[in-house]
Amino acid sequence: GIAFFPGDGTTPNEILKHADMAMYRAKEQGRGGVQFFTSGLQEAAYRRLENERDLRQALSNEQLALVYQTQVNPSRQIIGLEALLRWRHPELGLVSPEALLQVAEETGLSLPLGEHVLRMACRDLVAIASWRPVPLAINIGQKQFRQPEFVDRLRAILAETRADPRLLRLEITESTAMENPDQAVAKIQALRDLGVGCSIDDFGTGHSSLAYLQRLPIDTIKIDRSFVTEIIADHGDAPIVEAIISMARHLRLDVIAEGVESREAMDFLLTHGCRQFQGFLFGKPAALDELLDHIRASEHPLLSAVR
Ligand code: C2E
Ligand code: CA
Ligand code: CA
Repeated sequence: GIAFFPGDGTTPNEILKHADMAMYRAKEQGRGGVQFFTSGLQEAAYRRLENERDLRQALSNEQLALVYQTQVNPSRQIIGLEALLRWRHPELGLVSPEALLQVAEETGLSLPLGEHVLRMACRDLVAIASWRPVPLAINIGQKQFRQPEFVDRLRAILAETRADPRLLRLEITESTAMENPDQAVAKIQALRDLGVGCSIDDFGTGHSSLAYLQRLPIDTIKIDRSFVTEIIADHGDAPIVEAIISMARHLRLDVIAEGVESREAMDFLLTHGCRQFQGFLFGKPAALDELLDHIRASEHPLLSAVR
C-alpha cells in the first residue's frame, strides 16, 4: 500500500493510515499486488463507516419500522399479512429494504437487524391477533437462517413476546433453502415442531432441485413477482407461472402469486388454479395502524384463519 507525502496527507499518522487503506485494497485484490492510495478509497472507507454508524443509530433510535402488505383469496378477503422492513432515515427519508439489507450485510449488522425485525413483527402479531388471528409472514435473510442458533433465538423471541407460533410464517428464498438443502430440511422441520410455518420466497429465480423441494417440510411457495407483473405482456412468463402452479398442486403446496398489479393478471392466475394473491391490485404495504383502520372500514372483510 503506497501513499505519498504531501499529496496524500500532511502528518505521519495520516500518511500511514492512507497507506494502510491502500494495502487493504491491494490484499482484497489478491496476493503480491500494489495499490496506490486514492481519494476514492478514502471515500469508500468513510461511506462504510458512516453507513455503519447510521444503521447502529437506526437500530437504537427506532428508525426501523415494519409495513404490512395483505395477502388475499379470490374473493379478496384477507388471508394473511407480510411484514416488510423500512428505514426512516433522518436525512434520506424512507430507505428501501434492499439498500438497507446491503448496508447491514457489509457492516456485519445483518444478524442484529434480523433479530430486531423478528421481535418487532412478533409484537405486532400479538396486537393483530388480539383483534383477529391473521397469519403473519416474515422475511428471513440468508445469514440469519444459516445461524446454528436460529431456531433457539426464535423460540426465545416467541416466549418473550407471547406471539402465537401457529400464526407465524417464515419466508426464506429459494436460494437460501437450496444453499444447504439437508440443513434446510432439518431447520424447517424444527420450526414446524415449534408450530411455525415456512414458505419458499421468490420461487423461480433460484436453482431448486425438485427432489429437495419435495423433501422440504414447507407449506407454501411464492411465485416471484418478476414473472407475475409481466404475465400478460411477456409471453415467456405465462408458461413459467403455469408450470409453477401445477408443480405446487402436485406437491400439495399452497401457492401465492406476488406482484399482482392488474385484474388481467389475477384472471390469468385464477384460470390456472392459483388461489392466493399479493400485490398492488389489493393494496400497497402500509403502516399497521393505517392498514387495520382500512380493513375495519373495508367491504372485503377479514377472513380469520388459523391454517
Ligand atoms: P419480497 O419478500 O419479494 O417482498 C415483496 C416486495 O414486492 C416488496 O418490496 C413489496 O413492496 C413489493 N410488491 C408488492 N406488491 C407489488 C406489486 O404489485 N408490484 C411490484 N412491482 N412490487 C410489489 P420491498 O418492501 O421493497 O421489499 C423488497 C425485498 O426486501 C423483499 O422482497 C425481501 O426480499 C426484502 N425484505 C423486506 N423486508 C425484509 C425483512 O424484514 N427481512 C429480510 N431479510 N428481507 C426483507
Ligand atoms: Ca417475501
Ligand atoms: Ca418475493
